[in-house]
Amino acid sequence: MIAPAPSIQQQLNAIRDRYVQHLVERGQEIAALWNALTIDWSWERLDTLYAKAHALSGSAASFDLPAVSAAADQLNAILAQLVADRPAEVSAEARAKIDDCIAALITASRQTPGDTRVLQIAQPVAAPERGMRQTAVLIVEDDPATGEHLALQLEHFGYRAAVIQTLDNFEESIRSHNPAVIILDIVFPEGDLAGPQRMAATARAGVAVPVIFLSQRSDFMARLWAVRAGGKAYLTKPVDIDALVSVLDGITGAFIPEPYRVLIVDDTRLTGALYEAMLRNAGMRTMALTDPTHVMQALQEFQPDLLLLDMYMPACTGPEVAALIRQQDAFVSLPIVFLSGEHDRDHQLAALDQGGDDFLTKPISASQLVSAVTSRARRARDMRALLSRDGLTGLFTHASIKEQVVREIMRAQRYGTALTVAMLDLDHFKQINDRYGHAAGDRVLKGLSRLLHQRLRMSDSIGRYGGEEFLIILPQTDASTALRVIDDARARFATIGHLLGNNDEVMVTFSGGVASLTPESNSYTLLAAADAALYAAKGAGRNQIICATCPDVVASPQSFHSDANGGSYDNLTQPDPDS
Ligand code: GH3
Ligand code: MG
Ligand code: MG
Repeated sequence: MIAPAPSIQQQLNAIRDRYVQHLVERGQEIAALWNALTIDWSWERLDTLYAKAHALSGSAASFDLPAVSAAADQLNAILAQLVADRPAEVSAEARAKIDDCIAALITASRQTPGDTRVLQIAQPVAAPERGMRQTAVLIVEDDPATGEHLALQLEHFGYRAAVIQTLDNFEESIRSHNPAVIILDIVFPEGDLAGPQRMAATARAGVAVPVIFLSQRSDFMARLWAVRAGGKAYLTKPVDIDALVSVLDGITGAFIPEPYRVLIVDDTRLTGALYEAMLRNAGMRTMALTDPTHVMQALQEFQPDLLLLDMYMPACTGPEVAALIRQQDAFVSLPIVFLSGEHDRDHQLAALDQGGDDFLTKPISASQLVSAVTSRARRARDMRALLSRDGLTGLFTHASIKEQVVREIMRAQRYGTALTVAMLDLDHFKQINDRYGHAAGDRVLKGLSRLLHQRLRMSDSIGRYGGEEFLIILPQTDASTALRVIDDARARFATIGHLLGNNDEVMVTFSGGVASLTPESNSYTLLAAADAALYAAKGAGRNQIICATCPDVVASPQSFHSDANGGSYDNLTQPDPDS
């Protein structure tokens, strides 16, 4: 039995409990530092005391412990003044105030275990998955062969289609299949506009499922009724599968962006954990560092969309970290947001001057944090996408995917994990262009990108390496697994009929070469090995995948099934539970 994953609320409470357990110790540490100071004064030690008080006021506020935070705040204010003025002698009055604040701090921290307050957090959002895998679609089509053919083709793009042939029990079928989208014909035995008329009545009865009309008819009345029935799109037969999938993806939101990645640097481990929990709850990926000196390595490997940076840390300050990051070309556009208990506007502005983009003050609610991070990360990612994504296919550009190969090799070598790349090239693609035109060729290229996007894991990267060449990076995947996955995509793609030219259903294939990282390889030799395997596949007759580093493994074209891969390829050879 696997225990259920703790809810976000449980996680937050556990983090807070751990924080509260150490709170008394923290208070005592501050008291001890102050004691030492009164015996033997040193400005360095006062700086340390100030840093500790500052961290405590920020974290206590974040964990919703107002009494502790207030006492720490007061202490902080007095110490800030001392640090700034550095008077020749600390007045007895100031000393007495510090004594009082520390006493209040100790008292407040002792009372916290009885504090049963729970941290409030916004409603959890489902973590976005790439591709709405196995989305249910209902096809209503009176010609059984057409319906089945369409269902089969859609399956390759991650849609599980059920087919019904009549409008009898239409509402009943919608209820039992619970489709995300209905694909509906216009003409049925009941009448030559029976499809949309029945749909309109169903919609009036309160059934709200998006519908796409698909018909031989293309006349005004048919289209008018489709609009009246609330049709999202109108496609004519024979169906252009690439166009239909593009509409389906649009309606079902199949192209959900990858979760935002946020790197958090905060020397208080539990505060970092708190922000991680808040952001993860909103579907983001996070990494937390307590030691800012490791930030460069984390940026390289984690590739965050945004950096959340604490202001005061023992090794160096947040603004120093920001300045140091900004001096490197690769990170000039990384959004850097300070998150600190610093309320002084001048200090905040000075920090922003060092290269930060925004300032958030502690304490911050989950919803404030999530919305501030989301808007900044989205803008930054949009900017980057303009530069790194190919206009036609939405895949990574040549330069971007090559950069990723280098990065993934570094990561695989550091952690000793497997890494496989695949180079694909469409077969006789020049003939497609020559016969059906460049625009038709473009549609096929888009279709292949969509299929690859659907069949691969979120952690795999897909790039358009050349005109009709694709490069895929499969981290933590060995050659034989990658071979199976890519060959599965090959077999699926080969069965798709692309509607080109004068409604010809054209089959297009691709060939591929697969190569895995070896201890000797670098990015140049790895890509060259995949390329050599690709040309071996071309030479051996095309429409096949050859593996450079696992020549003994033979891909079996029949082995694919309809289960998609959200995060792992482990189940790839298991039979489809639905069949
Ligand atoms: P092979 O099986 O040996 O790969 O044959 P091929 O015809 O695919 O190979 P070749 O390299 O001779 O031709 C590639 C063709 O791909 C030529 C070019 O017209 C086409 N192509 C490249 N980029 C694009 C593009 O962006 N859009 C379209 N429609 N065609 C493209
Ligand atoms: Mg080619
Ligand atoms: Mg080529």
